[in-house]
Amino acid sequence: MEPVKPHAVCIPLPAQGHINPMFKLAKLLHFKGFHITFVHTDFNYHRMLDSRALESLTGSPDFRFETIADGLPSTNPRGIQDLPDLCLSIPVEGLRSFRELIMKLNASTDVPPITRIISDGVMSFTLEVAEEFGIPEMVLFTPSACGMLGYLHYQDLKERGYFPLKDESELNNGFLDTEIDWIPAMKGVRLRDFPAFIRTTNPHDVMFNYNVQAVNNATKAAAVLLNTFDDLEHQVLDAIKTKFNNLFTIGPLSMLHRQLCPTNLDSMESNLWKEDTQCLVWLDKRVPGSVVYVNYGSLVTVTPQQLREFAWGLADSNYQFLWVIRADLVNGCGEEDILSEEFMAAISGRGLLVGWCPQERVLSHPSVGGFLTHCGWNSTIESVCEGVPLICWPFFADQQMNCFYSCREWGIGMEIESDVKRDKVEGLVRELMEGVKGHALRLKAMDWKKKAEAATGPGGSSFNNFDNIVMQLKHK
Ligand code: UDP
Repeated sequence: MEPVKPHAVCIPLPAQGHINPMFKLAKLLHFKGFHITFVHTDFNYHRMLDSRALESLTGSPDFRFETIADGLPSTNPRGIQDLPDLCLSIPVEGLRSFRELIMKLNASTDVPPITRIISDGVMSFTLEVAEEFGIPEMVLFTPSACGMLGYLHYQDLKERGYFPLKDESELNNGFLDTEIDWIPAMKGVRLRDFPAFIRTTNPHDVMFNYNVQAVNNATKAAAVLLNTFDDLEHQVLDAIKTKFNNLFTIGPLSMLHRQLCPTNLDSMESNLWKEDTQCLVWLDKRVPGSVVYVNYGSLVTVTPQQLREFAWGLADSNYQFLWVIRADLVNGCGEEDILSEEFMAAISGRGLLVGWCPQERVLSHPSVGGFLTHCGWNSTIESVCEGVPLICWPFFADQQMNCFYSCREWGIGMEIESDVKRDKVEGLVRELMEGVKGHALRLKAMDWKKKAEAATGPGGSSFNNFDNIVMQLKHK
């Protein structure tokens, strides 16, 4: 008789940048012999069913999908504007629904007994259920370690009077440039580099308080996992370890996955949007290092004016570019209302616009020479994995911190001001693709790629940490 498999229940926050790393971790654990229950929200599950082949979601006998409620009304569009609503509803409705799911799985003879819950660090209400059922829980934090250290200092910022802002004028009067000099691991960091939920006059801001609570709750978890590697963030990690002594770096998860089990369950995907794979064919026809890839991830929204500035900056650079414009990227309208015929004519044959792409495959394509990104942590670390340098346009959450580290510490990026102007876009694209600075950033990015490979290869820090947590997960 086959021995009973250990059973891990994996539950991400229902947003793309959280689902992807949790999905990689789940596939890695499956490869190591775990039975997996992967938990989506009802809304996302049906959205995925609508946008792709059923087989990618029916799973396999030992990798199954379950769903919970997110508590949002069915009319809710669930975009960026609704993150605060989600963070209010999911700890209530999601908690209730997750409890029911664990009861159902516990009573089932169809799946092995649950060994561990692996929860997103920002779904920390799951810890309550884990405790109730006596199931140990690990948490995966999906931001960078520097972002996480930023969140860990939120309470401090409040006590020292930096949060909330006194009034709106502090957003533009230089106050955000104040250097925060009491955190030794973050030399040179300014208030503006902290995860952006501090930029409010509201002392009860949902996102600020949600993140404070999440990092505090994580101290109750059996282990805290981070999608980064020691070489990249060692100083920051040392600082975090003073709060969590059970911290394990297991990233970059996409690289660890590629090194250990690239084909395991490869027909299963975690995209919420339908991928346009034609862009890979388009890239195949370009010469190496010649294309600028532009993508702002899954949550950023831009104004029509910002879209126009990016558009003409890219057009005027004369470089070839692949630009991902999500259907819901532009506030209040579609790109077709904004991008003029004149623009489309100007970029004909050299610019390709798509709605969603297989980003990791795009970044690893030899034709891609640079990445204009919003600095979401997945995008940043996926770019590190491919040695692709960055132009950074951070929007919110930990993106400001990732931008600061990319530009000041890791030497892989250059920043564009949030009030984006076309001539700046044009200049930075040229600098990235052909300038001395761009060349230096590319060399540095290649250097980090090698270090990431070492971390995720046999004997590397992330490789060893992953083995270690697999052992912990298998033995109660
Ligand atoms: N992504 C993708 N195709 C796209 C845009 C994004 O596959 O066209 C993936 C990307 O590879 C990453 C995730 O979606 O894994 C976005 O996460 P990130 O942390 O970069 O940004 P967020 O969406 O959370 O702002």
